[in-house]
Amino acid sequence: MKPLAVILILLVGVAAGWAVATWDSSPPEVAWIDPPRIVGPKTEIQVEVRDQGRGLKSLRLLLRQQGRDLVVHEESIDEAGFLWTDGTLERRLVLRPSDMAPREDLKEGSFTLEMQVQDHASLGLWSRETVEQETFRLDRTPPRIDVLSNQHYIRQGGSAAVRYRVSEPVDSSGIQVGDRIYAGYPAPSGEEGVHVCLFALGHDQNRETPMTVWAQDAAGNRGRENFWKKVFPGRFRNRNINISDRFIERVLPSIVERSEEVRATSTPLETFLEVNGSLRRVNNRQIAELAAQTAATPLWTEEFLQLSNSQVESFFADFRSYFYQGKKVDEQTHLGFDLASLAQAPVECSNDGVVIFADYLGIYGNTVVVDHGLGLQSLYAHLSRFDVGLGDEVRKGQSLGRTGQTGLAGGDHLHFTMVLHGTHVNPIEWWDPAWVRKRVLSRLETPGE
Ligand SMILES: [Zn+2]
Repeated sequence: MKPLAVILILLVGVAAGWAVATWDSSPPEVAWIDPPRIVGPKTEIQVEVRDQGRGLKSLRLLLRQQGRDLVVHEESIDEAGFLWTDGTLERRLVLRPSDMAPREDLKEGSFTLEMQVQDHASLGLWSRETVEQETFRLDRTPPRIDVLSNQHYIRQGGSAAVRYRVSEPVDSSGIQVGDRIYAGYPAPSGEEGVHVCLFALGHDQNRETPMTVWAQDAAGNRGRENFWKKVFPGRFRNRNINISDRFIERVLPSIVERSEEVRATSTPLETFLEVNGSLRRVNNRQIAELAAQTAATPLWTEEFLQLSNSQVESFFADFRSYFYQGKKVDEQTHLGFDLASLAQAPVECSNDGVVIFADYLGIYGNTVVVDHGLGLQSLYAHLSRFDVGLGDEVRKGQSLGRTGQTGLAGGDHLHFTMVLHGTHVNPIEWWDPAWVRKRVLSRLETPGE
């Protein structure tokens, strides 16, 4: 073979190799990541561009509204230095309408984003371009809130109801009390835009705690409104409790055995303090988490029932000091009523609802929690026996089980409380037919007052 032919064949080979190495068989791809149809000023819009082969060369993002184009993003990317190295194969842009354009250039309503992407050329000759559009609707108007109920009287540790109308469909709404959120629900009456919310002022929140109605639309715009209210101080008692070795020896072993959260500590008193403190906090958190399982409609229609023929031994939010061998060893707040009747008395369900918990719960022993809807739940503790199971629909007066002394209980009694969206509230209001009718039912059922 002539040397010239060999050189020619080698050159063709090198050219072919170069072509194969740099050939880009596909155009760049543009993908909008879960594009939201309705966006607020701060809603994130994400777009991803990808290319195989030589990589991305240029990106241009246009904002189009009412026939006007605005360049939102423009970028050119260098080609990779060597044939065997990849260029930039991927870019993800995260954009918020408020960053894309000044307010006067991006108006409420429909707008289009157009992504134009080019890749680096195959053989330095053929570059490919991809253009993809996506349409959005900008909403920067927060929902307006019109409070329909008036005269909201709230006691520390107590509950209240608000009825309000929102000016547009909302994703979520409710009442904020300090750092606590109470969800509102569409009114049972079905009137358009009308919502109701049961909320509480915690026994541990002060009377000046700010309270507002809020509502958030699908675009994330949040509106707020004040409402007329008068706040009364809660009257809570101080109580001294004596802890004996006999009590510790009787109640602790089964609690420690059945609660994996409790660490084994050196002395019986230390174990008691662990149970009375950290386990109490853990159990209260578990109770608060049950709020998520509430029904969106009220499951009840009249006042709540107090255990028949029972004597009140402790009130809601009694502040307890614990003494051991004459020395103060602990302080805790008792979040419920202790009601004593006969031993093993039937525990009557306080109102219609659904059983969402029927199990052992640390210091509360055998416990039933009944959901009544709109975030309102009732709790029955220290039972010796269950008559109902998880998911049962229960009626007011129906037996849920028998009283007992499981958990941290000094004797046979029922520990009863109401819980509202995870906050323990004073049941005394819910037992009062006049309060329930005037302060709650009238707001759930009728427009205004
Ligand atoms: Zn109790």
